[in-house]
Amino acid sequence: MPRKQIVAVVGRPNVGKSTLFNALAGKRISIVEDTPGVTRDRIYQDVEWLGKVFTLIDTGGIEPDSKDVILSQMRQQAEIAIETADVIVFLCDLKQGVTDADAQVADMLRRSGKPVVLTVNKVDSFKRDSLDVYEFYNLGIGDPIPISAANMQGIGDMLEEVVKHFPDETATEDEEDDDNIKVAIIGKPNVGKSSIINKLIGENRLIVSDVAGTTRDAIDTEITHNKQKYTFIDTAGIRRHNKIKEHLEQYMLVRTVSAVERADVCVVVISAEEGVTEQDAKIAGIAHDNGKAVIIAVNKWDLIEKDNHSVNDFTKKVRQTLSFMPYAEILFVSAQTGQRLVKLYDMIDAVYQNHSMRVATGVLNEILMQALVMQQPPSDRGRVLKVFYMTQVAVKPPTFVIFVNDKKLMHFSYTRYIENQVRAAFGFAGTPLKFLIRERK
Ligand code: GDP
Ligand code: GDP
Repeated sequence: MPRKQIVAVVGRPNVGKSTLFNALAGKRISIVEDTPGVTRDRIYQDVEWLGKVFTLIDTGGIEPDSKDVILSQMRQQAEIAIETADVIVFLCDLKQGVTDADAQVADMLRRSGKPVVLTVNKVDSFKRDSLDVYEFYNLGIGDPIPISAANMQGIGDMLEEVVKHFPDETATEDEEDDDNIKVAIIGKPNVGKSSIINKLIGENRLIVSDVAGTTRDAIDTEITHNKQKYTFIDTAGIRRHNKIKEHLEQYMLVRTVSAVERADVCVVVISAEEGVTEQDAKIAGIAHDNGKAVIIAVNKWDLIEKDNHSVNDFTKKVRQTLSFMPYAEILFVSAQTGQRLVKLYDMIDAVYQNHSMRVATGVLNEILMQALVMQQPPSDRGRVLKVFYMTQVAVKPPTFVIFVNDKKLMHFSYTRYIENQVRAAFGFAGTPLKFLIRERK
């Protein structure tokens, strides 16, 4: 599956960014809805157009931080868009015409080399306003597309222009290469993601130049280790030290989502020095919501003064903060000294196996019958839950259907109990399991 494309909308305050966002919001597909603590800001949403799904990000919600308010705000937006998006929609306002700030931002976008779709909003009457739209050719970033976000006009033409810049989907290399384990190394900036990937790969292939405007796409690196092929999906953070860095963190989450979607195994990197934080939980939650195998790599372990309790104490804190993924494996590593990084390969192999494991129905039902005997199914007002049968219907993650007499009687806690029995019997370390409850009369 090719990576989901990211489209950013950039434009001055009041040009109609929110209106456009809302006009497209009807198609909203929420990705991280179930993650505890994930901010549901409207900074991004999935949009479907002519069968293509892409992620739209709104760079508009940023507080300006200098005297030349509007220009600096737009510059920030543009930088975020250039760093994180595949296609940029530059939204202008017919009523205000071409402003100085527009011209400067257009220059910035042009220099970035990113595809830009110049869009002129508030063209409420295509007939009356069409001459005025010509003025926007002066920006030198292509043909202006007239729209009215408020009246939902011209939006189809605009989206068509956007999807033209997407890569051709006919190339489906991923499917041909199915024994290739896809690993996303994710985590906050500076926890050591790049250092870990570089160590694992054995050469510094991920170093990207810091030249302004350098585009920084997720880079896949393929390597073979002990005859197993791996694809590392890079989400390496922004290394620029400027003010937009903190804003960028939010937007990097969007990148993380698109990397996670393509991965089998997610290595969530945490810094031992900083300890496990809510931001780590947010990132780990993306892997969880997508049903991926998960390894928590506690990096920079070399910086910790250790005693007999260090590993236990840290493990406890990780389990507490990431309580929604008790199945995740934990490994203490150091990208600096290389400590236990080889073990990371073994662990990736193991959780990948578990993530793709299929259990035969016969064995599964033996475990189920034993479980039913050991702990009586719950009942409610005289009605007793009957559990008939269980079968595995999918892998990645392993997904089971349990057939019962009455779904309402199947408490969450009893499903959890069955899950624990299945885990005790078959392992499944590092992978979430899904249970679907179906009624059979
Ligand atoms: P943002 O600051 O870029 O997010 O802009 P908003 O979406 O908040 O819109 C600013 C103003 O422009 C609001 O009063 C909108 O109602 C108005 N507006 C948005 N789209 C259109 C349009 O197509 N035509 C007209 N006439 N007004 C619009
Ligand atoms: P990223 O932003 O997550 O990709 O983090 P980097 O790989 O760029 O690392 C951020 C900083 O932490 C760099 O200065 C690294 O040298 C340092 N670093 C990474 N891993 C370790 C480690 O295991 N131990 C120590 N002491 N420093 C590390």
